[in-house]
Amino acid sequence: MEYVTNTITGKNILVTGGAGYIGSHACKALRQAGYLPVAFDNLSYGHSDLVQWGPFEEGDINDSKRLDVVMEKYQPAAVLHFAGFTYVGESVLKPEKYYRNNVVGSLTLLEAMARHRVSKMVFSSTCATYGVPLSVPISEEHPQNPVNPYGESKLTIEKMLRDFDVAYGIKNISLRYFNAAGADPEGATGEDHTPETHLIPLILDAALGIRPQITIYGNDYATPDGTCIRDYIHVADLADAHLLALNKLESDSASAAYNLGTGTGCSVQEVIDAAREITGKKIAIEIGTRRPGDPDRLVSESRKAGDELGWKPQYGDIKTILQHAWKWHLQKTTEKSR
Ligand code: UDP
Repeated sequence: MEYVTNTITGKNILVTGGAGYIGSHACKALRQAGYLPVAFDNLSYGHSDLVQWGPFEEGDINDSKRLDVVMEKYQPAAVLHFAGFTYVGESVLKPEKYYRNNVVGSLTLLEAMARHRVSKMVFSSTCATYGVPLSVPISEEHPQNPVNPYGESKLTIEKMLRDFDVAYGIKNISLRYFNAAGADPEGATGEDHTPETHLIPLILDAALGIRPQITIYGNDYATPDGTCIRDYIHVADLADAHLLALNKLESDSASAAYNLGTGTGCSVQEVIDAAREITGKKIAIEIGTRRPGDPDRLVSESRKAGDELGWKPQYGDIKTILQHAWKWHLQKTTEKSR
């Protein structure tokens, strides 16, 4: 499809990682709000069929020439920066991959933004920048001490953003996600990772019999049922937060960071129980060993995003998250088996 680029009103937004899980939801939200999302993705983990709300430009954030071409063509008013590798375990085994793609790639992107005078960025950061929490819920003031190269790479980018604001006036908002989950309520896009490591899609695979069971990584944590507690936040709510952050950058120029979570924790066992209810399937479990680096409890204090961005998660309930994820999962599995 040919899109009319909208350089006159400044509504073109470059979305790195726009063919990915969270990026594609953000493209949908941008389009619905009247922006033209330009998805820039190297398809290493993304899927071109998830690009449905604007033009697709294949490219890598490490490729400054390609970034020049795309920025020249669309003259984006802002960048929403989702592109990045996100596997914690892999980051421990292959740190160079995370520093090169996440850190060097973001540096290359920021340099291109400075060259093309693109002065606004919303960045996908993570609660992994806090490391093992000293207290829960975790507020934005909590010290940032990542415990793996993935978290370290994201924290380094937050620091680069601070410096590029001072030097080149690139105003930015870092959004620190807790556990992104769910799928588009209308079923247009959702999670499709290879390999899949995340709890909810693995549970849904077990519900479908694609995997024999779900392995619970430890049931001896200091939590009421012994399994880890996480703050699952609906991906459509994350997408909304990006729009609100963009609006904030358009109306006031201060850079900032916000946590994005519901403020309510859910244990692995509770997620499995809710999934049994939503899918109507038994879902076999196996108790495995702890996964290295998993804290007992990660729950967000998200008042700041509510107060300053006006963000209010619409789909806070784990059952709604699972309903949307299940609908997407069934659809995706049927398409793949054709
Ligand atoms: N988890 C689990 N079994 C799995 C995958 C994940 O018990 O097969 C647990 C994991 O230990 C963590 C929670 O589920 O406590 C969420 O893990 P996920 O990988 O989805 O997200 P993360 O918290 O690592 O970002």
